[in-house]
Amino acid sequence: MGKFRDKLAQFMYGRYGTDQLYNALIAAYFVLIIVNAFVSSGIISILMFVVLIFTIFRTLSKNIYKRRMENEKFMKIWRPARAKGNLEIRKIKEIKTHRFRKCPHCKKVLRLPRRRGKHTVQCPSCKKEFELRILS
Ligand SMILES: [Zn+2]
Repeated sequence: MGKFRDKLAQFMYGRYGTDQLYNALIAAYFVLIIVNAFVSSGIISILMFVVLIFTIFRTLSKNIYKRRMENEKFMKIWRPARAKGNLEIRKIKEIKTHRFRKCPHCKKVLRLPRRRGKHTVQCPSCKKEFELRILS
């Protein structure tokens, strides 16, 4: 087993390996497997094949710079998407105690205690005041 690991390490030397985009591609692949189990479409099968080939190609690629750039591009989309997703989850988790409102001046999202009625709020970020109504 040790020998195999050495061989593998030797083979992977100078190759790109895995990154966040790799994880996302693997996740996408498994989602496609599940979707395909229900709809079993030829297009999805082809797409799965393409994802798999692209994933393997990236892992074994020796063009580390280019692969890094791909990952960078992916992270530029993924980071804000993940932040938005986390906020949505938090909104649901705290639906009984808090409300989330955007500051009209700086667009920062504020977490406010759930108190029904009209309030004047000072944004902790830009210090400007604004009025808001919490209906429920
Ligand atoms: Zn503000």
